[in-house]
Amino acid sequence: MAHDTDMQPSSVRASSDPLVLPGAGDWLTWVGERCEGELAEAVRQVERVKAGSTDAGEVLRAWNRAETALANADAVALWSEVHPDAAVRDRADELSQQVQKYVTELGQDRDLFAVFAALDAEGLDDDARRVLDHTLRDFRRTGVDRDDATRDRLRELSERSVKLSQDFGRTIRDDVRSIRIAPERLAGLPDDYRAAHPAEDDGLVTITTDYPDLVPFTTFGSDVEARRELSLAANNVAWPANDQVLQDLFAVRRETADLLGYASWPDYDAEVKMIGSGQAIADFIERISEAATERAGQEVAVLLERKRADDPDAEVVTTYDSRYYSELVRREQYAVDGQVVRTYFGFEQVRQGLLDVTGRLFGLEWTPVPHDEAGTWHEDVASYDVGLDGRRIGRIHLDLHPREGKFKHAAQFDMVKGVAGTQLAEGVLVCNFSRGLMEHDEVVTLFHEFGHLVHHVLGGQGEWLRFSGVATEWDFVEAPSQMLEEWAWDTDVLATFARNAEGETIPAELVAAMRRADHFGKGLYAVQQMSYAARSYYFHAARHDDLTSYGDELQRRYSVFPPLEGAHMHCAFGHLDGYSSGYYTYMWSLVIAKDLFSAFDVDDMFAPDVATAYRDKVLARGGRADAADLVADFLGRPYSFDAWAAWLAE
Ligand SMILES: [Zn+2]
Repeated sequence: MAHDTDMQPSSVRASSDPLVLPGAGDWLTWVGERCEGELAEAVRQVERVKAGSTDAGEVLRAWNRAETALANADAVALWSEVHPDAAVRDRADELSQQVQKYVTELGQDRDLFAVFAALDAEGLDDDARRVLDHTLRDFRRTGVDRDDATRDRLRELSERSVKLSQDFGRTIRDDVRSIRIAPERLAGLPDDYRAAHPAEDDGLVTITTDYPDLVPFTTFGSDVEARRELSLAANNVAWPANDQVLQDLFAVRRETADLLGYASWPDYDAEVKMIGSGQAIADFIERISEAATERAGQEVAVLLERKRADDPDAEVVTTYDSRYYSELVRREQYAVDGQVVRTYFGFEQVRQGLLDVTGRLFGLEWTPVPHDEAGTWHEDVASYDVGLDGRRIGRIHLDLHPREGKFKHAAQFDMVKGVAGTQLAEGVLVCNFSRGLMEHDEVVTLFHEFGHLVHHVLGGQGEWLRFSGVATEWDFVEAPSQMLEEWAWDTDVLATFARNAEGETIPAELVAAMRRADHFGKGLYAVQQMSYAARSYYFHAARHDDLTSYGDELQRRYSVFPPLEGAHMHCAFGHLDGYSSGYYTYMWSLVIAKDLFSAFDVDDMFAPDVATAYRDKVLARGGRADAADLVADFLGRPYSFDAWAAWLAE
């Protein structure tokens, strides 16, 4: 791709045009050209920033173009997670390293920093002033003001961290494990699952650690030893390879924080979050644990009592019992049979239902884009244009089924960050659902992930790349998604799409029972989350020689389920990379999500005024204000723990 200084790839395109993808064409070449072209554009715009203008507005606009091109180059990371061709995934990894290398160089470019430091903010509007403040803060956090030797070392550490992150993720993606068992050991599993797992030539059945195999097996499989074997396999994914990778990654982070003058990595990381400091994370973990421990104890006693009906000598409920006995308790004591529930959630209906529900709630229209027009990487991907008030505001791509070499969890990835007048917001949901019936849990997950996608698109309508999409403090980002989960639990909402093969709508009594049953397990969920949050925080707060035994110790301290003998769950705990010390985010965001939801009328979940206010005051503003201020603006008061505490006590 050729560029000259007057041809800017991102601005010659009409603002409403989606990115042109290669479809059946040559992805390997395209990925390289896209990334390197945008990177070259970023370099050119950075030169303009450094060209000597002292007009703050002019400098910030050039910087905005540079950041836009950099974000476009960085979005190449998506293809390392989803592309069906391993060569494209590897190429995308290499390109990401180049992008990160340049980002690191920029962060330590003293001449560039000097340009911003000399700008006069007088006369800038609020958004531009905020861009300048955040830019200066970013520079300080990359060590631009340190001596040469320190900056060199920080650069090395940053490059090493990118490489380690990629190794960590790749090992998890590529390491699918399985158990091979006799067909009778599938006792308890639904017929469609058994049909999808026939015996092979040697008479045995293969069950993998991919979610569509793992989740139903640990929920419904009555063979306790088979559940243990599969859980053990899942908790050994990426072991032992990732153990050393994590030790190296933690060491890099510790040294980085130290060189930048912070007491710990969590202090460095939390500085730009709502929570503010490492100590506040430790305090939050204790606060939630204390609030939830009694309830978790009562719930585990219920599970143990039920387990004793099968095994009178049982003394503990294990991690591989928890889903299974929770499911039985819900079925027997709350009249919720997961196998009946799932008959109402055929994948295609759920996907359409989700679009209809969110369309109605936020006033959005979804127009399907045919596969050959969208030009995506796989025929499974469903693409839609997003319309608001008759105007196209984005495009989304739903890549929802597992395949070899694909990202194993559920997440939203940016493809293009929206910038008004420059480029259309495009996002991708990457999940691993079955093509047939879905568990209700998975329906909730789909609503959750879709919340991120809606945030990405609605927040992608402003002028500044820095604030585009999900650009708030990182411990707020789960709140909008967790709040959207509430719509997957509402009787009237579910009645719009949850129908079985006979065309019967899910009965209101069943949804009511599901909601009652869902309250069972909240304490268990909270303490289990804190055991993960504790790993994420304490692994980063200080060095630990044996991550397995220290992780087990934290499990014993925070969870009610004993550690699984022989397991090394940290090796496949992907959030240790992306969230680093910040896994507490999920519970922190839930506290805020419950508060946000308190503004809605549970008897009228589609009431337009509150939904529109939420859309415009929280989602559409992206990162233009601190999350606490966005929430206060919507609620008319600061956020509090009250709604969360009431929910836990319910
Ligand atoms: Zn999420």
